[in-house]
Amino acid sequence: METKQFRAESKRLLDLMINSIYTHREIFLRELISNASDAIDKIYYRALTDDTLEFDKDDYYIKVILDEKNRVLKIIDTGIGMTKEELEDNLGTIAKSGSLAFKKENELKDGYDIIGQFGVGFYSAFMVAETVTVISKALDSEGAYKWESQGIDGYTIEPWEKDTIGTEIILKIKENTEDEKYDEYLEEYRLKDIIKKYSDFIRYPIKMNVTIKKLKEGSENEYEDYVEEQTINSMVPIWRKNKNELTEEDYSNFYSEKRYGFDKPVKHIHISADGAVRYNAILFIPERIPFDYYTKEYEKGLELYSNGVLIMNKCSDLLPDYFSFVKGMVDSEDLSLNISREMLQHDRQLKLISKNIKNKIKNELLALLKDDRDKYEEFYKSFGRQLKYGVYSDFGSNKDMLQDLLMFYSSKAKKLVTLNEYISGMADDQKYIYYATGESNERIEKLPQTELVTEKGFEILYLTEEIDEFVLKVLMAYKEKEFKSVSAGDLGIEDQENENNLDTEHTANKELFERMKTILSDKVKDVRISKRLKSHPVCLTNDGEISIEMEKILNAMPN
Ligand code: ADP
Ligand code: MG
Repeated sequence: METKQFRAESKRLLDLMINSIYTHREIFLRELISNASDAIDKIYYRALTDDTLEFDKDDYYIKVILDEKNRVLKIIDTGIGMTKEELEDNLGTIAKSGSLAFKKENELKDGYDIIGQFGVGFYSAFMVAETVTVISKALDSEGAYKWESQGIDGYTIEPWEKDTIGTEIILKIKENTEDEKYDEYLEEYRLKDIIKKYSDFIRYPIKMNVTIKKLKEGSENEYEDYVEEQTINSMVPIWRKNKNELTEEDYSNFYSEKRYGFDKPVKHIHISADGAVRYNAILFIPERIPFDYYTKEYEKGLELYSNGVLIMNKCSDLLPDYFSFVKGMVDSEDLSLNISREMLQHDRQLKLISKNIKNKIKNELLALLKDDRDKYEEFYKSFGRQLKYGVYSDFGSNKDMLQDLLMFYSSKAKKLVTLNEYISGMADDQKYIYYATGESNERIEKLPQTELVTEKGFEILYLTEEIDEFVLKVLMAYKEKEFKSVSAGDLGIEDQENENNLDTEHTANKELFERMKTILSDKVKDVRISKRLKSHPVCLTNDGEISIEMEKILNAMPN
């Protein structure tokens, strides 16, 4: 028997882990069950790709065994098991995930639903156990091994007896102390509860012996204890369930179980489509931007299942780029499990689903905007920029899809407004949707160019992001109202009489203007008299289609 040391950093990590990462001790069971389920998935996956292996679903299960007297809790699985090396590599090094490696190795083939990837879940067992023993026999190895650890002082590993392939995790539950209570993890009822709460959708049965009271034989009122093996989890995935049976909490649990994000989703969308293409989907609009969202590291996509079996972790074809923030999964019985990625791209069903989903997301966002403005604005702060990119990219082909979702800061409302809201507030004699560009709302407010428009009582949209003006240029108009920069030459406000007056005044001061023009010859094209100024003596306007701000951006762009 050899005793090995955890690596130094592992020691520190382990300590950190046990004491701070998890706020709820009870999740140790979720982690161990997820590992068991992953292990069964792996053997299932092998059976799919290896003809010599047979897979009978009934042979695969997870069993939780409670031995209250000895303070022992066992979690047994019939999964793929671990070789000696794997025991050392995966359990001896914290933050090493055999499951992540497995996923990467098999990336080119069809995927499947493996939960683990962080390589820390296993250690949560030390939150409740003083000793953790793992007895495992791997599919690919002759013998079995026993791994054992008390946490901080490293682990031992030795050959062991085990007939069947799979893994047994044996926890010696800590004794209660004055401040910390552990006895609850030796209560049948409590364990059942934890399994139900976290692991209800695990696809394999989680079995447990449960004590039930039964009438004594031949007696009318005397009961006796009777032990019965029950399957605790319902196994029906949440997306197959009826919406009416599910609570908001079920969805947010699913969101965090799936590790879609660490935030709380702003909204969930549950689709059960039964038309030209049949599918179930649960989608989430996250609240916060994933840390890598606006980088090229970020990978969009939805999980894609075919009849309950995962075929792809991130199917990017299911989401347009402008909705790349959406998380979730799609399950369709109309897709074949063996479909390859290349074929998938041309799959008619998949195209239908993605079109369907796209419209659904748009409508749900519009509904959110209407019903819960604050939440929508929260969402828009995080992902509005992505929607704008969406308008701008693909030659504006998505503008109909996205224009109603856009918001800009309004000079009148002093908050974000939609284009539709702008239009509804337009005066009868107002021809255009006015906008002004600048670094910040405060700066724009002080622009002399805004004076005339504001004085007319017209609303101005303040564009403070670089992309904003490009977006309006691509849109060109909203509901037939064209966009107009307040620094444009013709604002559509000055009336003809004024124009004529301007001409006479201009002629009268011709010499002065010529002088100014000569002095500023390399800076301006023309110097003219203006009626749009109220309190400012001078302002810059531009002749063409492009505003001064946009010109700046274009000039800064690499050619
Ligand atoms: P993760 O599940 O995020 O990968 P864990 O710390 O939970 O990290 O587990 C570490 C690794 O140990 C897993 O990736 C897997 O390779 C291995 N492992 C853990 N439990 C089992 C098990 N019951 N059967 C087979 N392998 C397991
Ligand atoms: Mg795990």
